[in-house]
Amino acid sequence: MADTPTPMMQQYLALKREAGDALLFYRMGDFFELFFEDARIAAGVLDIALTTRGEHGGEPVPMCGVPVHAAEGYLARLIKGGCRVAIAEQTETPEEAKERARRDGTPVSKTLVARDIVRFVTAGTLTEEALLEPRRANLLVAVAPVRDGVGLASCDISTGRMELEQCAPDALDAALARMGASEMVAPDDWDAAAADMIPRPRADFRSEDGEARLKAIHGIATLDGLGDFSRPMLAAAAGLIAYLDHAGRGTLPFLLPPVARGTGAHLAMDAATRTSLEILEAQGGGRTGSLIACVDRCATGAGARQLAEDLSAPLADRGAIEHRLASVHHFHADPLLRADLRAVLRQAPDIGRALGRLVAGRGSPRDLGQIRDGLSEARRVRAMLSDSADLPALLQRMCEALGGHAALVDHLARALVPAPPTERGQGGYVASGYDHALDALRETSGNARKAIAALEAKYREETGTPSLKIKHNKVLGYFIEVPAKHGDKLMAADSGFTHRQTMAGAVRFNSLGLHEEATRIAEAGAHALAAEEAHFETLVGEVVAAREAIAATAAALARIDVSAALAERAVEGDWAQPEMLDEPCLEITGGRHPVVEAALAQGGERFVANDCLLGSDDRLWLIGGPNMGGKSTFLRQNALIMLLAQAGSFVPARAARIGLADRLFSRVGASDNLARGRSTFMVEMVETAAILSQATARSFVILDEVGRGTSTYDGMALAWAVVEAVHENLQCRCLFATHYHELSRLADTCDKLTLHHVRAREWKGDLVLLHELARGAADRSYGLSVAKLAGVPAPVIKRARAVLDKLEKGREQTGGLAAGLGELPLFAATAQQQDDKPDPVRTALETLDVDALSPREALETLYALKAQASETDT
Ligand code: ADP
Repeated sequence: MADTPTPMMQQYLALKREAGDALLFYRMGDFFELFFEDARIAAGVLDIALTTRGEHGGEPVPMCGVPVHAAEGYLARLIKGGCRVAIAEQTETPEEAKERARRDGTPVSKTLVARDIVRFVTAGTLTEEALLEPRRANLLVAVAPVRDGVGLASCDISTGRMELEQCAPDALDAALARMGASEMVAPDDWDAAAADMIPRPRADFRSEDGEARLKAIHGIATLDGLGDFSRPMLAAAAGLIAYLDHAGRGTLPFLLPPVARGTGAHLAMDAATRTSLEILEAQGGGRTGSLIACVDRCATGAGARQLAEDLSAPLADRGAIEHRLASVHHFHADPLLRADLRAVLRQAPDIGRALGRLVAGRGSPRDLGQIRDGLSEARRVRAMLSDSADLPALLQRMCEALGGHAALVDHLARALVPAPPTERGQGGYVASGYDHALDALRETSGNARKAIAALEAKYREETGTPSLKIKHNKVLGYFIEVPAKHGDKLMAADSGFTHRQTMAGAVRFNSLGLHEEATRIAEAGAHALAAEEAHFETLVGEVVAAREAIAATAAALARIDVSAALAERAVEGDWAQPEMLDEPCLEITGGRHPVVEAALAQGGERFVANDCLLGSDDRLWLIGGPNMGGKSTFLRQNALIMLLAQAGSFVPARAARIGLADRLFSRVGASDNLARGRSTFMVEMVETAAILSQATARSFVILDEVGRGTSTYDGMALAWAVVEAVHENLQCRCLFATHYHELSRLADTCDKLTLHHVRAREWKGDLVLLHELARGAADRSYGLSVAKLAGVPAPVIKRARAVLDKLEKGREQTGGLAAGLGELPLFAATAQQQDDKPDPVRTALETLDVDALSPREALETLYALKAQASETDT
């Protein structure tokens, strides 16, 4: 027996071959079962019991299962855990299977219910409300590397949006970082595919197929009207659609006509820049602490998704940015309109995603209700905006997309109950008064129910049994029940009751009258359900026919929400409307870092605003000053202000004049990034090299302690050379933070470079960081004061100070730190001063707070003192 698999196992194994890497959910009655390795993986991810079922090849077969009614929750966890799932459903009832067996003349006992994979559930192909995050887009991306570049196709099937673009191979990482896809597919023969890309047959990625599929889907003869699509773009589109076909088993989800994304329309940022600026995710992962978390005041999920897209891909076109700014300004200037509008938006359902489900054939009456409510809210928004004077062009355009739909809204309003259910099976979602035939059926079943109540009263009376009840359950349908002691009365041959069941304390009967009424209820109910089902199909058909207009309304609502939310944020944080210019300047007065400011505010602390004034005569600022003084914060706040402005937002500053940038680069020296695996210095240099090869005169670059990842001299030399290259070759706007004092000499040779520092003051022997930017080089290094702030013992600091004095003297005499070290016998100098100064060892001992030392510090202090003592002796 062990050698020939059972018929069920044969069917399972065949389906599993089709499922490939995906976990196979094999439907058995009320459960989805998983077997073999799938069961082990799922039991681990879901933390459910792993059992066994039968044997295969002489071994027990591992098994686990989840109930069908709760499958959605388990699916969500598996998808989050990085799995894909193939759903194998029963495609016939057991009765149908038996019937088939009889027809074919096969033994009924050997006949299995037919099963088929009906759908692959994967991270990028979800439409279910419960599995999607309301405020995040859910992108599926196909990558098609071809001879003349890389094609990229992305879509969010929850809303139908689709974009095609092309990039050079070395710009692929940046593009993928921008998209943040939930799932990626690529040809299986491509060596450079990333580990998390799902390999698909190369034959899926043919540009001719892409073109043909797009034409067929959108019913057009040529793609020319949609945009200019290159071969690589169409190859990627082919790969994407082929994967959707595979996942949906031939049923394609909702796809809007593709949009070609041109290069140069957006502010380019690479992956390292995105990570370091923490745009959509903070460094630790997660939204908390990110820019978007601090900016997002959207009233709707669709607005939040639009804002995330705006921040990931800010614009590079001045006109388009100014249109967005004008919309924000409109809501900024009109608090009443803003409040009213946001109150309406907060009620508006997510029609984009409801539409996605309906078009994909996975919609419910509730989705129809959402379309109805969302479209009528859209009409209200339109009315509010049309009343508003001087509506900016962008809002006017959005307003136009909100209109129409009157007939559809009216139809849905008449046809549906106020809150339609998610499940269709029970009916009850078509409003009464909509269909008279349906109303009549409902009345019949309603009357029959009343008739049953009347029967109950009548039977009680006739039998003299007040405890007689007419009940209903799934197995028996309607029946009459009396307590056991009254059973005999009804058993009598002429009673008119027929016995059905005897229970522990009760006896159950049927009667002709009851049977008639029950049949009327069942028939009317079945007809009513069928009628509702037919109405549902018609209504879905109407919505699907209007899908592009509805999608446009959804997009317009999202854009309006973003504008109003950015206005809200600007008022809340006292942000200013930036003035956008073409010349490469960056003039920010009273700029603030929105995330740091919010974090400080929580602790009741105030953020110190700072100016940044870059222009063609002064385009590179070299910023020194103590650690923790606010250098990084200053660099990032200016990059974020530029990013926000180009995304069309007001900015956290008193005023801002911003010359449009084509690219934004942000780099952080390696030692801030120790958690990373690769040689951190290597990473730092690779990333710096990318800037030097990609930045243009229109770019904005922030470099934070670059060169720190190696020894002092290497690092300083590299930092020096990088500053020179930025100044001489790139000639772009740049903020460069460094703790290398020596770099200030670059000001002598670089005429567009100026020196700045974050201020600090020593007060009663303690260092006070002012977080205030000032012109000129830092007057000195504050390393020792910072060390003191950090708790390094006073004697060690004192000794370090003495050493530093000598070093600096040496430098003044010979013109360099290295020279100072080389020529000056370090400790001899201390000895020479012995006469006019008290014995340092003695002073150190006097000031030593022994109780404040840990054992280890005590030991270190002892070593330091001993070293000091032996120097003093020489
Ligand atoms: P650096 O880069 O000079 O080491 P950071 O920019 O990392 O310093 O700043 C260190 C800390 O100082 C920040 O985490 C923040 O709490 C505080 N800080 C920085 N800039 C400001 C500011 N402008 N106003 C108030 N606090 C600030």
